[in-house]
Amino acid sequence: MSDMKEETMNEKHQSGVVPFFFEHSCFDKNWVLRLNSSEQINHFICLICKQVANSPVEINCPQHENMDETLIAGENCLKQFLNNNPHACPVQPHDGCEYYKMKPMQRLINDLIVMCPRQFQQDLQTLEGNEEGQTHGNTAVICSFKGKIKDLKGHLDNACTLKLSECWFKSFGCDYSCLGHGLDTHLNEKMKHHFDLEELKQLQLENEQLKMQIDLDKKNNMKKY
Ligand SMILES: [Zn+2]
Ligand SMILES: [Zn+2]
Ligand SMILES: [Zn+2]
Ligand SMILES: [Zn+2]
Repeated sequence: MSDMKEETMNEKHQSGVVPFFFEHSCFDKNWVLRLNSSEQINHFICLICKQVANSPVEINCPQHENMDETLIAGENCLKQFLNNNPHACPVQPHDGCEYYKMKPMQRLINDLIVMCPRQFQQDLQTLEGNEEGQTHGNTAVICSFKGKIKDLKGHLDNACTLKLSECWFKSFGCDYSCLGHGLDTHLNEKMKHHFDLEELKQLQLENEQLKMQIDLDKKNNMKKY
């Protein structure tokens, strides 16, 4: 049991807290609590990871059907648990754990309003920074997204201001990347640098063309004689 706990913890660590957790694993409770009261999510807590269940299932083995509380787990958490403990159930050791998907609850969870998880992550980091006596000034990019969990993926892939954007001149050799609107500033400030890169690339290209031309000429000359 304690091994299991450690594994879920490690996994959470590997994936980082941000985009990643909504694909399969349960949702960070502290993040959901930013815009919801604990009464709202009390019934959605995964009994394995203690976070808000993603794709909730109810465990309803006949072995403990007399238990009062509803036994909710995130589907992924439960599957992982059963993989690691084939002859157990998260409630008590017995074979053949039985469960079913709770579609209506899934809908409720998907409709929970949450803040941008990247912003949440940034807030946490700022908080840690402040505790160490650092101030970040007000240059930080802010994502003010508030929306349903089910709309999150679209937000993170498209509209999120905390999404990393790469410089348009990447193919010319500029490695700059930044958050949100910072790219505009970069493009304005580094115009000369980018033109130089372009020019360099152009020169390289012309150089190569010239070389090819010379090679071609050589071949043609050889043919002549
Ligand atoms: Zn879970
Ligand atoms: Zn059971
Ligand atoms: Zn965002
Ligand atoms: Zn650039």
